[in-house]
Amino acid sequence: MRPTFTRIYLNNFKHNLKQIRAKLKADTKICIAVKADAYGHGAVECAKKAVEEGVDFLAIAAVSEGIELRNAGIKIPLLMLSLCNPDEVLTAVENDITPLVFDDEYIELFAEASRKAGRKEYKVHLAVDTGMGRIGCYPEEAGVFARKISESGFLKMGGICTHFAAADSLKEEDRKYTQHQFELFLSAVENVKKEGIDPGIRHCANSVLTLDQPEMHLDMCRPGIIAYGYYPGDMNREYFEKKGNAVDLKPVMAFVARVAAVRKFKKGKCISYGCTWMAHEDTNIAVLPAGYADGIFRRFNQTGEGLKVAIDGKAYPVRGRICMDQCMVDLGKNTSVKRWDEAVIFGPAESGAVVSAQEIADATGTISYEITCGVDKYRVPKVFVE
Ligand SMILES: *Cc1c(COP(=O)(O)O)cnc(C)c1O
Repeated sequence: MRPTFTRIYLNNFKHNLKQIRAKLKADTKICIAVKADAYGHGAVECAKKAVEEGVDFLAIAAVSEGIELRNAGIKIPLLMLSLCNPDEVLTAVENDITPLVFDDEYIELFAEASRKAGRKEYKVHLAVDTGMGRIGCYPEEAGVFARKISESGFLKMGGICTHFAAADSLKEEDRKYTQHQFELFLSAVENVKKEGIDPGIRHCANSVLTLDQPEMHLDMCRPGIIAYGYYPGDMNREYFEKKGNAVDLKPVMAFVARVAAVRKFKKGKCISYGCTWMAHEDTNIAVLPAGYADGIFRRFNQTGEGLKVAIDGKAYPVRGRICMDQCMVDLGKNTSVKRWDEAVIFGPAESGAVVSAQEIADATGTISYEITCGVDKYRVPKVFVE
């Protein structure tokens, strides 16, 4: 195995799922987002753990992701949150992937595929755009499309859903916007009921609303990022504690690279492309076999105080530009670091990391999601910890 890998603490994933379950009423369903290879954590392993923990649905983004889970023996409903190509629709139905639909063409494609597959009441969920501006019909159209689904002959309303644009913000205007979106969603549900159609499972709550807004749970919550151990958006551990609604989330991923070489480095020598860093005194340099093609992006060392990695619990700065496959770490006078020692670039406390993916995200102007999703699925193997 390559000396560069992620360590996936499935025990922490399980812990986070239990924290989520504890926030819900007993009959509220849970749909865990495992799209994008479970935000970089390994869709199959996370899905299996989620099934063990009694999760009801899994959310995916692509038919290929659904096939991967079905091939791994995952039997629970899979909700596909993005649209697929027309030539994938039959495959989606054959793999029992539940699509979000919201217009004539897509409804007809799935009705036709359901007919071809010999299905009668293939469940679809109606997506409603209440202000995200992405997919969905408008709330006032929900009744019409629910009728189209019911009258297609081959489909059935399995559920109705919407997605929030600014739910994880603490700004007053964003909170109002979320409330407004929620009211529009309820009006869409009413429009379906007025047609005499059962809307099925009503769901809208992403991570933050799952933790924070029980009145928005409805029939099912759809969290993602909190299952992987990161607090959503503006909210952090203290925010929930202060509200008397404490939740203990533990990051699931550690990014590890073994020291590939330790080199003595003379004062005046430069490091990496552009020679942006020069040794001002004699030092020792560790070469790590991890770079931007693995998900350790150049910007990690180009913003704020730069990137620090942990070796044996101590923090060492990365020097110079991060390369495609490698980066260099300044050990200073420390000569105890040996070749093949583990360097932890980010991770939970127990991984020995000195920074978390959240801290890297904050320092580089992005969100934890982008850090964990950015780890390359094919180059970086995963080592699972139970
Ligand atoms: C990704 C996604 C979620 C989960 O979002 P988190 O912020 O990770 O909780 C829920 N619903 C939809 C539609 C999504 O695309």
